[in-house]
Amino acid sequence: MSVDLSSPSDLSCPDCGRTYDAGPDEPWRCDCGHPLEFADRPLPEGPAPDFAEIDTRAGLWAFEEFLPVSSRVSLGEGFTPLQNADTADWSENVQFKLEYVFPSGSFKDRGATTTLSRAAELGVEKVVEDSSGNAGAAIAQYAARAGIDADIYVPADAKESKLAAIERVGATPVRVEGTRQDVTDACIEAVESDDEDSEDWYASHAWNPAFFAGTATFAFEVAAQRDWEVPDAVVTPLGHGTLFLGAYRGFRALKEAGWTDRMPRLLGAQAAGYAPVAEELHGSEASGGDNSVADGIQILDPARKDQILDAVEQTDGDAIALDAEPVADALDRLRRGGFYVEPTSAVAPAALAELRERGVLDRDDEVVVPLTGSGLKG
Ligand SMILES: [Zn+2]
Repeated sequence: MSVDLSSPSDLSCPDCGRTYDAGPDEPWRCDCGHPLEFADRPLPEGPAPDFAEIDTRAGLWAFEEFLPVSSRVSLGEGFTPLQNADTADWSENVQFKLEYVFPSGSFKDRGATTTLSRAAELGVEKVVEDSSGNAGAAIAQYAARAGIDADIYVPADAKESKLAAIERVGATPVRVEGTRQDVTDACIEAVESDDEDSEDWYASHAWNPAFFAGTATFAFEVAAQRDWEVPDAVVTPLGHGTLFLGAYRGFRALKEAGWTDRMPRLLGAQAAGYAPVAEELHGSEASGGDNSVADGIQILDPARKDQILDAVEQTDGDAIALDAEPVADALDRLRRGGFYVEPTSAVAPAALAELRERGVLDRDDEVVVPLTGSGLKG
């Protein structure tokens, strides 16, 4: 399928089939309430290239043939290192993908480069996003690179270091009192207000399909770095499913393109007390306990929960919830192993250990685990 990348892809709803023209005033979700997708789903023609034939100078945009967005806003992101884990006895046959090695210090840059590229394609003047952490910093930084204004809605008690990262690149943090949901609600209210002078375009890491087109590149890189041998399983942190669903879509596209021959099992690691997917799969006890360590994935109502459950089903996957203690242990072990990551990153290695303990994964299964955010942000 060939796609004219000079014209932005229209949007369509996978649930009810409505379509919407691309433009700066395009809706952020379908009238039926469902998240929208791109109408175009480009795939490359021809066989998978040898790794040496891939122009890694283009970063993740080396896989532009898979992307329904053209590269306009980039900081050279992508091709993060894939390293043998070697941090504990359970880390045999495990590779870490160092997703904290990105310009803003987290994997969210995969989605920020494609989302701001889409915004630039559409001629958007201002983007808005709601985030308590890495997504806000990534959108702010790529908006700065694009010369596009950005308002980032944050909880009133957000960490000073996160606010500083947003302010120093020229974006505007908008503090909102109340719960994390109140922050999202305030942001959506701004998007939906009819004020003609301020067309706000919702650059949401939970809703915007451009973000998920970007996180799909995780799968392309993993497969390429393993010479197109798909691992048996991928274990990711799971909140809104930004990386989990991106990985699913990426591996699915690779298989459809004939570049790989199978899907990995997709396994999600949630924070206890915030584990709607694990609850759906295993009952309400599965989400028991509390986890204030993994603050990046404390999401009770993921926008794409049905798609996450579908990805679990399609790949013989699973999702489990982790208490604070094993995550804190895994964090300590990671750092002592030389991987200087933030606490939320440790939830996936902690889940891997638990999944092996429970027999969901065998010791000889080859597993890739993304380490999602840098410890340097404080
Ligand atoms: Zn719809």
